[in-house]
Amino acid sequence: MIIHLDMDAFFASVEVRERPELAGLPVVVGGPSKSRGVAAAANYAARKFGIHSAMPMSQASHLCPDLCILPVNMPLYVSVSKQIHEIFNRYTPEIEPLSLDEAFLDVSGSLKLFGSAAEIAKRIKHDVKRELQLVVSAGIAPNKFVAKIASDIEKPDGFVVIEENDMQGFLDPLPVKRIWGVGKKTEQQLNNYGITTIKDLRSQSPRWLMDRFGKQGDHIYRLANGLDKREVISDAKAKSISSESTFIEDISNKETLIAYLSNLTEQVASRLREKNRKGKTVNIKIRFHDFTTIVRSKTLTESTCQTEKIWQAVKGLFNTAIPSGRIAIRLLGVGVSGFENDSTYQGDLFSEDVKYDELDEVTDEINQRFGKLKIHRGRHTK
Ligand SMILES: [Mg+2]
Repeated sequence: MIIHLDMDAFFASVEVRERPELAGLPVVVGGPSKSRGVAAAANYAARKFGIHSAMPMSQASHLCPDLCILPVNMPLYVSVSKQIHEIFNRYTPEIEPLSLDEAFLDVSGSLKLFGSAAEIAKRIKHDVKRELQLVVSAGIAPNKFVAKIASDIEKPDGFVVIEENDMQGFLDPLPVKRIWGVGKKTEQQLNNYGITTIKDLRSQSPRWLMDRFGKQGDHIYRLANGLDKREVISDAKAKSISSESTFIEDISNKETLIAYLSNLTEQVASRLREKNRKGKTVNIKIRFHDFTTIVRSKTLTESTCQTEKIWQAVKGLFNTAIPSGRIAIRLLGVGVSGFENDSTYQGDLFSEDVKYDELDEVTDEINQRFGKLKIHRGRHTK
């Protein structure tokens, strides 16, 4: 069984935990200012006003004039994310992080020690609540696809177990957009054929779907039937470490996109350092409003786990990848691959490297020790 864990309104919940006077009030995290920028996260009190992440801040404050707007404090979220992962690690080393606040756990090797997958998920929820005063939703299912839907369906504080025999019954009534890879465009096309639920989709032949949707047709047919063989790939086994953000609404503002990229870079770099890995190739992924997706890579002269070096590559790739006049973007991803076997660091004492390595070290250490960080590097668009 696979467990999918996803923190509830993560950034916003962490901020509220740090400022108990905000409990129960509508809070969004984002910026850079009230007039520009978008919400990176909204707590449930804010969502009641129709506010969601990636919404322009001006619209959010219009919907809720008393909205508390807090700046993004990524180093703090990274440090809390580490604490969350330490809790996951008590129960299995087979952890595949999807983002700072989301991960798949394969617990098949831990059942003898801790009991059923549902039991383990319950313990994790309990540990996270008690030790970090935060809430995580859990989905437990035979595969990744179903576990991910299960963790989402009863949010917040979700706990949903789907056994093998109940899987199809669980999937059938759900709308087709619940399927990975079915975006707005495919959803619309399917709806035009009268296909609105997963059951409708399943009643088509794979041939019929492939004729209309190509390879994607086969993919969605399999998922509709609960078939998903993808394994949980832990960072230790992964050939790359990456992080991506999908926006509910397309983002066109370059400064906002750069801020997201910077956050993703910081997440990836700190995971590399945590896992003692260095990679030579930096990748970015951009999905445009029309779902066309591009991936761009840059191979560095030497392997690195340094935030600043990865950031320089990411920024360069992004600036050359974005054709002018076509910038409405719905997904951004950053990854590092091409790992070296030996991760022992041979530093050059006299280069700028040392400064940045030290900065990374200090950042990581403070994050670990205090869970709160005042150092947050500035990012420049140019
Ligand atoms: Mg979450």
